[in-house]
Amino acid sequence: MKTVSSLLDDHWYERYRRISKLNIRSSIYDVTNRCNLRCKGCFFFSSGEHKAADEEMDLGRWETFIDSEMQRGVNLAILIGGEPTLCLDRVEAFYQRLPTFCATNGLIRVPRDRFPDMMIGISLWGSETDETVLRGKDTFSISSKHYAGDPYTYYLYTITPKQIGKTERIIRKIRDVGLKVHMQLLSNDEGVDGFSWSPEELDAIRAEMDAMLDAYPETVISSKYYHEIITTGKMLGRPFGWMECPSVTITMDNRDPRPRRLTNFIRWASDLKTMHRCCTSETRDCSTCKDGAAHMSWVMVNKRAHMRSTKDLQNWIEIYEMFAKLYQFIPW
Ligand code: SF4
Ligand code: SF4
Repeated sequence: MKTVSSLLDDHWYERYRRISKLNIRSSIYDVTNRCNLRCKGCFFFSSGEHKAADEEMDLGRWETFIDSEMQRGVNLAILIGGEPTLCLDRVEAFYQRLPTFCATNGLIRVPRDRFPDMMIGISLWGSETDETVLRGKDTFSISSKHYAGDPYTYYLYTITPKQIGKTERIIRKIRDVGLKVHMQLLSNDEGVDGFSWSPEELDAIRAEMDAMLDAYPETVISSKYYHEIITTGKMLGRPFGWMECPSVTITMDNRDPRPRRLTNFIRWASDLKTMHRCCTSETRDCSTCKDGAAHMSWVMVNKRAHMRSTKDLQNWIEIYEMFAKLYQFIPW
């Protein structure tokens, strides 16, 4: 029988040992239903999730809820929305209790005296022109001033087909303001013209993502196996989709057979009672879902399947390390 130690040399075994201790158990929280932008293709608004529940306004109830989430075993809170920075007191209630990641559009600066080491992921949707078309604003020019040089911040760069051949300029801009970047692909939930992926475009962007990782290893947090998975939608020959997705809310998971999945994962709406189906859009077609975190988690929960060869297990380790870096369980 193949074992981890028989497949890895000392160097890789040490890397494996470091991540195998982490036992990350995340859940996702809609901090608010409001946002100071309205991006075309934002899954939250396009699927009506912002209307699924009324926001809980009482801070004490948020605090009690977070305590109960910790008792449920959650050790990573991923805050999304809407725009979490519109409700910094709720963000602080999480941050004071457990490792917290805050997704933001970066228009409001999170005060570092109040949140010294909270992980922040700033959404970025491409070039100045793309952002203006899709988001109504070039957000980078604002967010990069707020966060330049911040050691706990990275750009979550959503690549669209329009950016093929243009990603290097964006990655250089991010490097030049002293920040990191993680790449993911747009799922065109609102069918915006020209923003859906063709197979040729997916091939092209995979090669470009690989080249960016090679050229800017200090700036890009990624792995080539992740690029392969996200662009082909396949892992070890298995297609991604509803029957394989690990990021489904546990109480709504009636799949049979049940795939390997995140332990006790729930995505909570902002009333702290309603749950959403999964980590992205309620109405998204799973066969076209390109969500980066769901694909990373898909690999991470399938360690055993990656024990068929040394290379497969190394690929698994690299994706686990990438995820752990993005949520600061291990340093960049
Ligand atoms: S900033 Fe984020 S939450 Fe707000 S509309 Fe855009 S994608 Fe949606
Ligand atoms: S939309 Fe994506 S994240 Fe949600 S269940 Fe389907 S595959 Fe998973």
